[in-house]
Amino acid sequence: RCLEFSAREKGVQIMLHRHFDDLIRDETTGRIIGVTASYTPRMLPGSNTPMQSYWQNGNIDETRETIYIRARKAVILGTGGHVGNPQVRSMFYPAMREPAWGPSGQALIGEHAADASALKAGLKVGANLAGMQQNLSYGATAHSPTRLATRDAYTDMYPGHPTFPFRGSTGFAANANTFEHFIAVNQVGKRFFNDMDLMRGNAAGTNFPGGNNVPARGVDIVQGDWRNSSRDHIRKMYNRHAGLDAALQINEGSEGPEYFSGPLWAIFDEGAVERAELNLTFPWVADNGYFFSADTLEELQAKINAGHKYQRVPMTHLSDTVARWNGFVDAGADADFGRGEDAPMHKIERPKFYAASIVVVWHDSYGGLRINGKCQVIDMEGQPIPGLYAGCEASGGGNQHGLGRGLVHAYIAGTHAAAETAM
Ligand SMILES: Cc1cc2nc3c(=O)[nH]c(=O)nc-3n(C[C@H](O)[C@H](O)[C@H](O)COP(=O)(O)OP(=O)(O)OC[C@H]3O[C@@H](n4cnc5c(N)ncnc54)[C@H](O)[C@@H]3O)c2cc1C
Repeated sequence: RCLEFSAREKGVQIMLHRHFDDLIRDETTGRIIGVTASYTPRMLPGSNTPMQSYWQNGNIDETRETIYIRARKAVILGTGGHVGNPQVRSMFYPAMREPAWGPSGQALIGEHAADASALKAGLKVGANLAGMQQNLSYGATAHSPTRLATRDAYTDMYPGHPTFPFRGSTGFAANANTFEHFIAVNQVGKRFFNDMDLMRGNAAGTNFPGGNNVPARGVDIVQGDWRNSSRDHIRKMYNRHAGLDAALQINEGSEGPEYFSGPLWAIFDEGAVERAELNLTFPWVADNGYFFSADTLEELQAKINAGHKYQRVPMTHLSDTVARWNGFVDAGADADFGRGEDAPMHKIERPKFYAASIVVVWHDSYGGLRINGKCQVIDMEGQPIPGLYAGCEASGGGNQHGLGRGLVHAYIAGTHAAAETAM
C-alpha cells in the first residue's frame, strides 16, 4: 500500500465511510465546483462500529448525513466502474441484470463498490460515455470462476482477514474435472448446458466463433484496413462464453418485470465427495446460503428455497432432473447436453446430497465516462466539461484492463487538475 502511505505522508486527507453522490455545477459558467457526499458507514455483520483503516493519519472524522465539498481547482472521479450496478450493466448486456451476480472481491471492496457512481453523476451533467461495448471483449469480464460455495468466487480469502465475515466462506475449487462428478442446475432445478464445459471457461468449443482473447487471436487485424469492421470481424471481437449465456438466459422461473435468471447450483452426492476428495468443512463451506446438504433431494431443494437470498422462485425440478441424469448415466450418453464423450458420468444417488452455489462475476469495467488525453470528461457535444476529470474504471474506451490504466490516468488527471486556476 505504498501509494496510500505516500499520499498520507504528503498530507492528503481521506474521508472514509462516505459515498460521493453528485457533482455540483455552476449553472452560470458550467464549471464543476464540488460534490455532494453521504455518510455510509461500513460495519462488520453484527457490529455497530464503523471499520477502521490500517493507517489513520490524514483521516477526517465526519459523520453528518450529507455534506457539500467545494473543489479548489477541479474534481477527479476515481470511483471505479459499474460492475456492481446490475441496471447499468444490463444497458449493454441485458443478461447481467441479475443482482445475484456481483463484482469480484465483493467482501473486500464493499457493497457500494463499483456502483457506477461516476457514470451516473457524469450523465447528470451531460457527460458522454465511451467503450461500453468493450466490456464484452474479454473473457474475464463476465465469467464463472471455478470456486464454488461462496458469493466471492473470484478471490481467495480466509478467516482472520478483516472482511472475511462479509463472505462467510472461502469456497472450494472445482474445475472442469471436478464437474465430472456434478451437474449444474438453474433456479428451477433444471440443467442448462454441458456441465463440464461450463467450467472450461474459454476453452475451444464453448465460445462463439472467434476463439479466446480475440481480437488478439483468432482474427487477423490489419491496421487501417477497412475490413476490420466487417460483420464477421465485429462478431468475433466479442469474447462471449456460450455456457455463460446459457446460465444467464431467461428460464421458466424468470418472472416479470425483470425476468431474472436466478442462482445456479452444482448438485452432487456423497459418492462425488469421496471420488473428488472434497473437503466440505469450514472455511471452505459455511452456513451462509451458498452451500446446503441434506439426506434427500427434496429436503435439499427445500433448503435452497428457504436459505438463499436470490432464490426468488421455488426450485421444483431437482428430483426429476437428477432422475433423468441418472438415466443418462445408465444409458452411457447425455441426450440433453452431450456429456459422456470425454469423461465418465456418475449417478447422483447416495446421501448426503449437496448443493454448492456457482457464481457469475463481472470482473471489471472497460466502458465509462468519455475522457480526452488530459483525462477531462467530455460532454455529448465533444467538449470538455470544465473542472471535471476521470480515470481508470470510472472512464471508458481505453480497451485496457487493470491497475496500469489507473496509475497512468491518475498521473495525467492529477497533473492537469493541479495546473487549473484555483476557483
Ligand atoms: C479481485 C480483483 C483482482 C484484480 N487483479 C488485478 C491484477 O492482478 N492486475 C491488474 O492490473 N488489475 C487487477 N484488477 C483490476 C484492478 O484492480 C482495477 O481495474 C482497478 O483497481 C480499478 O481502479 P479504479 O481506481 O478505477 O477503481 P477502484 O480500485 O475500484 O477504486 C475506487 C475507489 O473508490 C471508492 N468508491 C467507489 N465509489 C465511491 C463513491 N461513490 N464515493 C466514494 N468512494 C467511492 C472505492 O471504495 C474504491 O476505494 C483486479 C480487480 C479485482 C476486483
